[in-house]
Amino acid sequence: MHPGAPTGDISGPLPGSRRPIPQSNRNLRALTRSVALKIKTRPSPGEDAPLPMGQTALPTGQMALRRAVKDSAELAGRLHCNAEELHAATAGSRLRVPEYYLSLIQEQDDAIWRQAVPTAAEQNREALAADPFAEDDPLHAPVPHLTHRYPDRALLLVTGLCPMYCRFCMRKRKTLHGSPITPVMVARGIEQVRRRPAIREVILSGGDPLMLPDARLAALLDELAAIEHVQRLRIHTRMPCVEPGRITVRLAELLAARRPLTVGVHFNHPREITPASRRALALLADAGLPLVNQAVLLKGVNDDAEVLAALFRGLLRCRVQPYYLHHSDLIPGTAHFRLSLPAGMAIVHRLRELAPDLSMLHYVLDTPGGGGKVPLGAQQAG
Ligand code: SF4
Repeated sequence: MHPGAPTGDISGPLPGSRRPIPQSNRNLRALTRSVALKIKTRPSPGEDAPLPMGQTALPTGQMALRRAVKDSAELAGRLHCNAEELHAATAGSRLRVPEYYLSLIQEQDDAIWRQAVPTAAEQNREALAADPFAEDDPLHAPVPHLTHRYPDRALLLVTGLCPMYCRFCMRKRKTLHGSPITPVMVARGIEQVRRRPAIREVILSGGDPLMLPDARLAALLDELAAIEHVQRLRIHTRMPCVEPGRITVRLAELLAARRPLTVGVHFNHPREITPASRRALALLADAGLPLVNQAVLLKGVNDDAEVLAALFRGLLRCRVQPYYLHHSDLIPGTAHFRLSLPAGMAIVHRLRELAPDLSMLHYVLDTPGGGGKVPLGAQQAG
C-alpha cells in the first residue's frame, strides 16, 4: 500500500519488494514516464501534444489498444510468476492487461497487480448468481443488453470488450466470460429507447464503450441524441485509468460535441493517477465534459481510508468529482476482494473524519435482485 503517494509516482524504489520487476517492464515504465512527463497537459486544439525531437511517441487513439498482454504464458513471463498457476487461474475467462497498466505494477500482489492479474481464488465460484442485480431479467431488460430499471434512465451495453479485464468486474458475465454484443443487438436496444418516452438519460456501458472506433461511437451517440425524449447521455469508461493513450483531442471533441454528455470514469487507487492519466482527464475536462468517478471498495487494493483520501483528492485535482464508492459486490469468483459491511463502513467512517471535504461522495451498495443502490452509513453533510 502507498497511502502517501497521491500523485501516483510510478518510478520510485520498491521497498520490501517480494519479486523484482522484470527489466522489460521497467524499461516500459521508464519510457511511459519519460514520455508522459514531457507531454503538455493542454495541447493546442485539434492536435495531440507534441513530443520533443527524436522522442518515440507512444501510440494513441485506437492504436493504443494494440499494446496489451492477452496470453497467460506471456503475462507469467513478464511478471516472473508461475505460468501453470496463472494459466489455471485464467481458465474460462478473458485476459487482457494493457502494457501501460502493466507498467504501473511495482511488486507482486500490489494494488495494481491484484486488479489485473488472475489468481486461483477466481476459480472459487461460490453459490452466487452471475447476474445478482437482475440486469438481464426480462422484467428490467426488454431486449438483451438494455436494462430499464429506473423510470427515467436506461443502461445500454454497446460492447463486451474492455481495455483490461478487471478481475473484480461486477459485470464479468458479459466481459470476462461473455459472448459478443453485436451491432444488431445494440440497434434493438436503441429501438427500445425510442419506444419508451419516459427514458430521459441513456448510460452507455459494457464492456467499455471507448473500445468502439471513433466513427462508430459518434454514430451511436448521434442516433441516441436524435431521439427527442433522450435529454442526457452518459458514458462509463475505464479507459483514462487503464489505457489513457486512447483519449485524444479528437475523441474528447467528438464526445463534447454531443453534449449534454457526462463521462463516468473508474479509478480505484491513487497510483492509477499518473502523468498519462492526468493528461487524458485534462483532455476530457478541457473539452468541457463533466467527469465523475465510480470506485469500488476492494480488499487488498484500496481498503484503507488514507489510500481512498489520496485517491479522491488526486481525482479532484484532475477535475473529476468522486461520486460513488461501491461496496464490493456479490459476484462469483470475487470473494478475495470482498469486505464485510461493518469493515467497509468503518473505513468510510474513518475517511469522513480524514477528509471532510469529500462531501459529494456516496458510499453505496447495489442490492441483489435489482433493487438498485442504497446509501451506506451517514453521508457527509455539505
Ligand atoms: S473495464 Fe469496466 S466493464 Fe471492463 S472488466 Fe474492467 S470494470 Fe469490468
